[in-house]
Amino acid sequence: MPDVTKYLRVQNLPHIWCAGCGHGTVLGAVVRAIDKVGLDKDKTVVVSGIGCSSRAPGYMDFDTLHTTHGRALAYATGVKMARPELNVIVITGDGDLAAIGGNHLIHACRRNIGITTVCFNNSIYGMTSGQYSPMTPRHSYASTAPYGNIDRSFDLCALTQAAGATYVARATTYHVTLLINYVAKALSRPGFSFVEALSQCPTYYGRRNKLGTATKMLEWYKENALMPAAYDRLGEEERAGKVKIGELYSIDEPEYTTEYARIVAALSERGDSK
Ligand code: SF4
Ligand code: MG
Repeated sequence: MPDVTKYLRVQNLPHIWCAGCGHGTVLGAVVRAIDKVGLDKDKTVVVSGIGCSSRAPGYMDFDTLHTTHGRALAYATGVKMARPELNVIVITGDGDLAAIGGNHLIHACRRNIGITTVCFNNSIYGMTSGQYSPMTPRHSYASTAPYGNIDRSFDLCALTQAAGATYVARATTYHVTLLINYVAKALSRPGFSFVEALSQCPTYYGRRNKLGTATKMLEWYKENALMPAAYDRLGEEERAGKVKIGELYSIDEPEYTTEYARIVAALSERGDSK
């Protein structure tokens, strides 16, 4: 693995994450993907909302925006519209992205705006001590679901694909090489790319659901996260408790800021730019 220290604000370390938290692993994968693709640090903006995962940009040596809860994609859309030549990356959590930020998510997907979004999905609101999120599995426990969660959770990859994202992939903190490769692929594509990174929260989700240590949670990913060929072979009942990882969707569609620039250029040619 290459040395990626140059992408980190080492002066801000140590980080705030609990021992065994998966978020450092996902952050490591994101900067390794940035290195792999060779993005210019001075032309890359990293935007986050609020939550444990959203602290990540504070440790990343780029132009970074730590914004308000659920609004990372709204801020990122503004940055991309104003400066379409920049690489814009959103780092967000499952609560931030899929609950309060859900509408921003579906419309960013629908527009196919050139933003790479990486969702650190730990199935819980970690920073506020373990409330259930739209990604908490049914029948799991949370501080706000002490008798078991009766909500159904989203399939975030299916949701973003249906909403119009043009690259969708999922990996876990156990499958780090896959995660790096998917984020790198997402970064190299022009439209809205979405990567879901399953990341363990041993402190709130793990402890409340008696999942054991961080190592045990990683072992769960190892045993239950299946690539499409293996997952698709299973019958409906056998899929319960399993999760599909891999590159799940990829399609070429016009990118939003490119389309917008085309209209601006056509109008200025007509002398109608105002
Ligand atoms: Fe990580 Fe959970 Fe601790 Fe937040 S609360 S830092 S997600 S282990
Ligand atoms: Mg979360």
